[in-house]
Amino acid sequence: MKTDVLGVNVDNVTLAEAIDAGAALLQEEGFHYMVTPNPEFILSARKNEAFRTVLNGADLSLPDGIGVVYAARILGRPLKGRAPGVDFAQGLMARMAKTGDKLFLLGAKPGVAEQAAENLRQAHPGLNICGCHDGYFKEDPPVIEAIRAAGADVVFVCLGAPKQELWMASNGPKTGARLAVGLGGCLDVFAGNVQRAPEAWQKAGLEWLYRLIKEPSRIGRMAKLPLILVDALGARLGGK
Ligand code: UDP
Repeated sequence: MKTDVLGVNVDNVTLAEAIDAGAALLQEEGFHYMVTPNPEFILSARKNEAFRTVLNGADLSLPDGIGVVYAARILGRPLKGRAPGVDFAQGLMARMAKTGDKLFLLGAKPGVAEQAAENLRQAHPGLNICGCHDGYFKEDPPVIEAIRAAGADVVFVCLGAPKQELWMASNGPKTGARLAVGLGGCLDVFAGNVQRAPEAWQKAGLEWLYRLIKEPSRIGRMAKLPLILVDALGARLGGK
């Protein structure tokens, strides 16, 4: 069931339910795509209608950031919790290692996806990574063809938002894959270039703070994030 968080529909699922739902999409015929909204997505989608439409057209939309969970709570539509894209991806890969479904990694700087693939093959023995491509390409057709030729079932699309969502919605069906997932900076994490917050910080809902300490240049981007809580409060008080 979808929950409207300031104009962006988010699925009210736990991480385990999200992994089951993603695996179920993979069993279905045809192309599907998933998005992982955080507060930045919601702010950006307010001004960018094409982005909002693509987010709301997704088969599955995971509440990636704690800010989304707080905003939903303020709106009076509480979610079960966070379902971070990076954890979803790990869960789906564990399933794929058993089923043999093929994974293509798209995005990040040249060499990052290859390093991520090496680490992921070790972490998930049996995982079939059928190809990689960096995220700084000029033309779409050769990338679509590379995914198609590799016979990918799933594509992790890691180009940053809103580029990755727009890319998935318009090009995903041409790749022949059954599932594309927009996963932001995940390949940098899988490659070991970016460290996630320790589990205690994640559980405390402070992953964003850890990230800010590690990458202080994100302050400009992050300073706007409390805005969605203010907007949520305004919407609640305004009876929307
Ligand atoms: N990226 C890309 N192509 C681009 C712009 C960005 O592949 O044209 C990659 C970038 O290298 C990084 C990811 O997209 O690996 C986005 O990272 P960001 O930290 O913005 O994403 P977040 O995790 O915040 O969603």
